[in-house]
Amino acid sequence: MKQLQQILTGIDGKGYKGYKQLQGKRFKFADFELFFHYIQGDPFAAPSQLAVRVPLGKAVFPQESFQPPVRQVALSDYLTRAFHRNISRFTRGNRGSGKSGSFQIDHPGQEVLERTSMTVNEDYVEARFFAGMPAAGRRVLGREAAEMLINELPKLVKNSLFFSALPEDELFNHVYTVEDQEHMRSQLAEKGLVAFVADEAILPRRSGVDQRPLPSGKAVPFQAPLGLEVEMERPHAGKVRGMGIPEGVTLIVGGGYHGKSTLLRALEQSVYNHIPGDGREGVVADPGAYKIRAEDGRRVEKVNISPFISNLPFGHDTDRFSSDEASGSTSQAANIIEALEAGAKVLLMDEDTSATNFMIRDMRMQLLVAKDREPITPFIDRVKQLYREKGVSTILVIGGAGDYFDVAGTVIMMHVYSPAVVTGEAREISRQYPSGRKMETEDTFGEIRDRVPRPGSFNPYKGRKVKVKAQGVDNLQFGRDDIDLHQVEQILDPSQNRAVGEIICYALSKKLIDGKKTLAEITEEVNNLVDERGLEAISPKPNQPRGDYARPRALEIAAAINRLRTLSIDIRD
Ligand code: ADP
Ligand code: MG
Repeated sequence: MKQLQQILTGIDGKGYKGYKQLQGKRFKFADFELFFHYIQGDPFAAPSQLAVRVPLGKAVFPQESFQPPVRQVALSDYLTRAFHRNISRFTRGNRGSGKSGSFQIDHPGQEVLERTSMTVNEDYVEARFFAGMPAAGRRVLGREAAEMLINELPKLVKNSLFFSALPEDELFNHVYTVEDQEHMRSQLAEKGLVAFVADEAILPRRSGVDQRPLPSGKAVPFQAPLGLEVEMERPHAGKVRGMGIPEGVTLIVGGGYHGKSTLLRALEQSVYNHIPGDGREGVVADPGAYKIRAEDGRRVEKVNISPFISNLPFGHDTDRFSSDEASGSTSQAANIIEALEAGAKVLLMDEDTSATNFMIRDMRMQLLVAKDREPITPFIDRVKQLYREKGVSTILVIGGAGDYFDVAGTVIMMHVYSPAVVTGEAREISRQYPSGRKMETEDTFGEIRDRVPRPGSFNPYKGRKVKVKAQGVDNLQFGRDDIDLHQVEQILDPSQNRAVGEIICYALSKKLIDGKKTLAEITEEVNNLVDERGLEAISPKPNQPRGDYARPRALEIAAAINRLRTLSIDIRD
């Protein structure tokens, strides 16, 4: 620490590059070590990357707070939040030009994700964070830097990374709430369910830009309907009652503005765990649940969409369908096939964001436009097959297309935000008022092809530098291209997007994308790597571990690759 103080005094008043000598260095403080992984050369650019490591002997987190691994993820999340909160309590912030004086750490939202911002293990707890090294203009403010690192940082560390400084009940509640969710999710399959929504869950959010729960008083708490009540075990909070959505085809119906999309959105996001107080701590969905929507304008590369679309005008190929600007229906078809390829187990669809002609052709339309003039086999004629042949369930929000009653195993009606089971009524209506439409398939769904990405079609360079940069959750700059992720709705955190970009680079540089492996094999290898070595294994420079990655699913990694406009695919026969 004294040595650090000397260096900072020595470079006071010199050019900003003076800080560079700290890079790669490590300093011992009374209670922890401070690492300078990367030093920024400019006070106006992204801040420098630092880490602190507190020996577990000093931090004294009890074993049961970070073992088994699910608790490690939960505790790391808790500590990241504590560190983030404490930045404003114990540090002054602005101390000069640009980012001078600021501490930053990854800032989790409502979800608890595996992240690189924090690690806890048998030996130590380590926080990876960012710091703006202080400057006036581009001159080093050595004294300010010493104030920041030698005075403020120890307070920040003491109050965030020491068990004794944290409220024990809150900490364990955080860890146990996450473990309970993980446990509930693991019970779904054996119970024949694809999702579970506990009684009293709060599903609506404050707004499109505020994912906190709608305050109680304004929100109608969830109540399981008769007929779908299930009990789930939780290791910590005990049994909980709620609604179990069975495998197969499930419709969510009801009047406009009665809470259908809100329920679906909660299911979409409950492939992840939520923090205590979120309102969705009792909601879990199959980890392979994937949102499907129409996405006109997207790029599609050699996807076999023939289960849904064939005989396009001018002999446009649909068993290797490519388009730089897919239509609503072809994009939705491609989204489904790509999801199946990437391992999706449950498809989540909302009529609001689907292409009507993809979803349904009713009797009258069948009479007017004969089958041999219509390239589309609507989803209604494939949805049961998907379950029977591929074991893939679908949950569908339907407000208008009652023909779907014919294919539904379960029908849930939302009325004033409360669900009721109306499967029997829907069947009775099906019987009394036949839709009159003809089933448009006789064949099987068919096999999902193995698609092999060509390594030469990825170019992460812009000029001479690799330029892969996440912009929020909606865009990933990849070299000269932008991967549009607006409509890939289950990337919920910018740090997941960043990790997706890094994973693609990793897969290229480590030759996982080798022109032989399929997309599914590539994402699986990445998953195994992260399971074994942690998410930091994807960092481009092992000696500069980044603290701002959060783990994406294989489904979202594949989704990003599939949207790369330069992607070129070989079909493996
Ligand atoms: P639908 O898809 O049936 O048209 P939405 O799910 O979009 O309806 O919900 C309409 C509005 O009602 C939204 O503003 C939503 O936030 C709100 N809402 C949804 N569920 C609840 C609830 N349980 N309690 C209070 N408001 C809710
Ligand atoms: Mg809706």
